[in-house]
Amino acid sequence: MSEERIISAEGQVGDGRDRALRPLSFSDFVGQKSAIANLQVYVEAARRREEPLDHLLLSGPPGLGKTTLSQIVARELGVNFRATSGPVISKAGDLAALLTNLEPRDVLFIDEIHRLNPVVEEVLYPAMEDFELDLIIGDGPAARSIKIDLAPFTLIGATTRAGLLATPLRDRFGIPVRLEFYDTDDLTSIVSRAARKLGLEMTPEGAREIAGRARGTPRVAGRLLRRVRDLAEHEGHAIIDAPAADQALRRLGVDDIGLDKQDMRYLHALTEMFGGGPVGADTLAAALSEARDALEDVIEPYLIQQGFLQRTPRGRVATPRAFAHLGLNAPAQPLA
Ligand code: ADP
Repeated sequence: MSEERIISAEGQVGDGRDRALRPLSFSDFVGQKSAIANLQVYVEAARRREEPLDHLLLSGPPGLGKTTLSQIVARELGVNFRATSGPVISKAGDLAALLTNLEPRDVLFIDEIHRLNPVVEEVLYPAMEDFELDLIIGDGPAARSIKIDLAPFTLIGATTRAGLLATPLRDRFGIPVRLEFYDTDDLTSIVSRAARKLGLEMTPEGAREIAGRARGTPRVAGRLLRRVRDLAEHEGHAIIDAPAADQALRRLGVDDIGLDKQDMRYLHALTEMFGGGPVGADTLAAALSEARDALEDVIEPYLIQQGFLQRTPRGRVATPRAFAHLGLNAPAQPLA
């Protein structure tokens, strides 16, 4: 997967310019209502009691707002926000340095927390539970353990794969919150709001056109909006309405439900070369000259979510919806 896909949910160079668009408060944060309702109550209670918020675990696919929400939590608590990520903390000492620098009630945000080194994780347990660091100083017979008291703090862990978290770590989060893909209405509000902040003239239909192809993901919506703006300016459209947005998105190679060339190549291979399956992931990966991981992590989740694809014990199977989207007749026999 060499070339960057405009519809990728992973962060890319250039996304940093989104920063001005980030919602800054719960009231600005669109969607995820059921997940956020309780969280907002807990944050309010912690703030009133001047206590740290319980540790919070945010899980869900990339680009759905885990970092944004963590920043909002810190802001609403009125405390500092310190951010790092699992793969960056390579030694116990790195984590100790972060923890000892926290002020009371601060938020420490660890992105990709499922990728923490197990040695570092061990240091995190007493820190989360008792606000204490247990460190071993020195080696061999001279080694001794010391305890350091920490300021009470809130750990916010973010993960795209909650299932990969060690149980003792997962159990130490008092508040687990799972973010889900956004529906088109919510994404339409996100696009409209972002367009307003960018000073763009956009009709509600124009916003919906972008939202419908954003794969349920605000990060993708923001990126599509920026590219549509560039193309619409180039074409001399003063107002971005549905036809202007549609024209720009087609030029970007994104179809009316957000599939790009790579998704289409995948679906064509599955339906035409393999008759809709079942076909093993390795065979399919070889036919497409892609790494199996790339198929599983990058291409398949959205196709599954859209009901185009099933992963069965015998392999990948295209659904009738996939055949219909490609304008093909589905095979008469049930495939699975
Ligand atoms: P994650 O940490 O889950 O990968 P981010 O918090 O970095 O996702 O969000 C990606 C982008 O999407 C950011 O630019 C953010 O401003 C935007 N975003 C995410 N959630 C929302 C939301 N609910 N409303 C508006 N914008 C959002």
